[in-house]
Amino acid sequence: MKFCGIVLAAGSGTRFGGDKLWQTIGGEPVWLRSWRALSVPPVEAVGLVVPAGTEGRFSALAPGAAFIVAGGETRTQSLARGLRAVPTGCDAVLVHDAARPFCPPDIVARVAAGVESDRAAFPAVPAVDTVRMKTAHGTSIIDRDSVLLAQTPQGAMLEDLRRAAASSEATDEAAMLEGIGIYAIPVPGDPVNKKITFAEDLRLSSETRVGIGYDSHRFSDDPNRPLWLGGIEVPGRGLAGHSDADAVLHAITDAILGAAAMGDIGEHYPDTDPRWKDACSGQFLAAAGQLIAADGWYIVSTDVTVIAESPKLAPHRAAMRAAIAECLGLDPSQIGLKATTNERMGSIGRGEGIACMAVATIARTHV
Ligand code: MG
Repeated sequence: MKFCGIVLAAGSGTRFGGDKLWQTIGGEPVWLRSWRALSVPPVEAVGLVVPAGTEGRFSALAPGAAFIVAGGETRTQSLARGLRAVPTGCDAVLVHDAARPFCPPDIVARVAAGVESDRAAFPAVPAVDTVRMKTAHGTSIIDRDSVLLAQTPQGAMLEDLRRAAASSEATDEAAMLEGIGIYAIPVPGDPVNKKITFAEDLRLSSETRVGIGYDSHRFSDDPNRPLWLGGIEVPGRGLAGHSDADAVLHAITDAILGAAAMGDIGEHYPDTDPRWKDACSGQFLAAAGQLIAADGWYIVSTDVTVIAESPKLAPHRAAMRAAIAECLGLDPSQIGLKATTNERMGSIGRGEGIACMAVATIARTHV
């Protein structure tokens, strides 16, 4: 079964008091994170429904979107336009709120599995607060165990949902499908898959940390050894070391690991291990990024100062920033890089080697 996705980003977000979908988390708009959260297996292509006239603003940040179409007046109209744009060959569709940026990939997989087994599915979580219903006399309690809170993405067969959307103004896909006699099954959701509704949802949910890293290497006696700095080869004397001795990447790797309190580069990649002989340090850095990501962290930014009497690094700065960004899956705008000399003082000042200092800021989201 081929699954496609639709992210609904055409709502106005009036309860938030602004355009909540363009609020940023770790430098990325909420909607982009929601789109990426749905762009995981088995979903093969994910499109966006956006406010009319803003298509270009969205496509600039999501060039990989399967389609970007203008929404309508209501959620159902927007959904119907998204359903029309779904690529041919797609059997089933998962529809996701653009205001749910924290959806974990296992929810997407469970909803897709529910569609395969039962034609339609939605993720749900139990109510943890006491639930009361308004009555003519005040309020009365509802048995909490009889209540499920529906989340997104909600999944259905494409043709079923097209038919349901043509005849309903319900607030979600499961409710629409009921209108044509199809009952979606609940699959386990996750409290982390929170919908950003109020400005406080973003303020309360982020934890930020900073890490520091330092590294230095002396110049090699081998005149043929290349100089690796910031993930690129730079003309100049090579640095001695077990790996490629890229002091810039080593300092950033330590800053990232340090921010997450996950040890240091020497612990993860000991220089006594023959596997790391002449290793490309980009793999250390990428692995550190993945290690902290597994614990829910993402990198907000990193900043480096290179201290060296030579070579001059200004001509290589843009390429170094791009290489570091690529290694970490970041944008170069998140990578700071400066170079300075040590005013001929001390060992670095005598040109015996190169030193680097780095800081990294990381963040993760909690409910
Ligand atoms: Mg080193």
